[in-house]
Amino acid sequence: MKKLALLETSYRWLRQAGDAAARLVFPPQCAVCDAYLEGALSFCARCDYAIFPLKEPRCSVCGETREVSPGAYASEDALCPQCVEARPKFERARAYWEYYGSVADAIQRAKYGQRLWIVRNLAAELGPWFRAEIASITDACGRSAIAELAPALLITYVPMHPGDLRARGFNFGNLLLRACLKSAGIKPEIRRLVIKTRRTRSQAGLGHLDRRINLRGAFEVDPRVDVRGRAVLLFDDVLTTGATANEVAKTLRQAGASRVFVLSAARALKY
Ligand SMILES: [Zn+2]
Ligand SMILES: [Zn+2]
Repeated sequence: MKKLALLETSYRWLRQAGDAAARLVFPPQCAVCDAYLEGALSFCARCDYAIFPLKEPRCSVCGETREVSPGAYASEDALCPQCVEARPKFERARAYWEYYGSVADAIQRAKYGQRLWIVRNLAAELGPWFRAEIASITDACGRSAIAELAPALLITYVPMHPGDLRARGFNFGNLLLRACLKSAGIKPEIRRLVIKTRRTRSQAGLGHLDRRINLRGAFEVDPRVDVRGRAVLLFDDVLTTGATANEVAKTLRQAGASRVFVLSAARALKY
């Protein structure tokens, strides 16, 4: 059994290494249909049609698209009903794409289909947005330049349970965050601040309340780090209801983090 697991892991690494080597020889490919790309960033023209930016107006805290009756004035700092009812533990969450069409296909191919080269495609598209968002967080932290950010802001990702990490072989969020920072030309290093101590069942198919219950007490701040008084940038590759980001933010705040900002590549929309 152990032998089999070892074989599977080495097979996976061989495949990934082969994949990376192929990338050096062949031109870049579309993240969805594998078509070779000429000049285009990461998606071919056909798949690019099925990419959707998030609809405005959005909640100023969680970033969820708000329903506004036609012609009504939509104030910029308005909150969605959910955030009015219970303010999340993070200060704000922002995402770039709608988790739908080509973006959902590309993320699923990378995350569950082991095509890790897609991470680079996604990061190439996300880089400029990432830089702008981090500049805005820098501003919120009272710093004038991104270069000054390292002492002010800790950068981290949503952890996986060690057993799940072993089974998959990689943490997709961590890989994408790394690639996005590189693509944005930002130096500060990524730190593991939180560990997942309990396995949780899949959040898919669970309602908002059940998602919260499912995650309760699943995370702990790594005892080797001190987050007291620090601001944290938390990256979650896909934001669904925000329940996971909220639980990790809660864990960090309870350990003394001053504020938590959430960035995501894509977010699933309710409407
Ligand atoms: Zn394509
Ligand atoms: Zn909201």
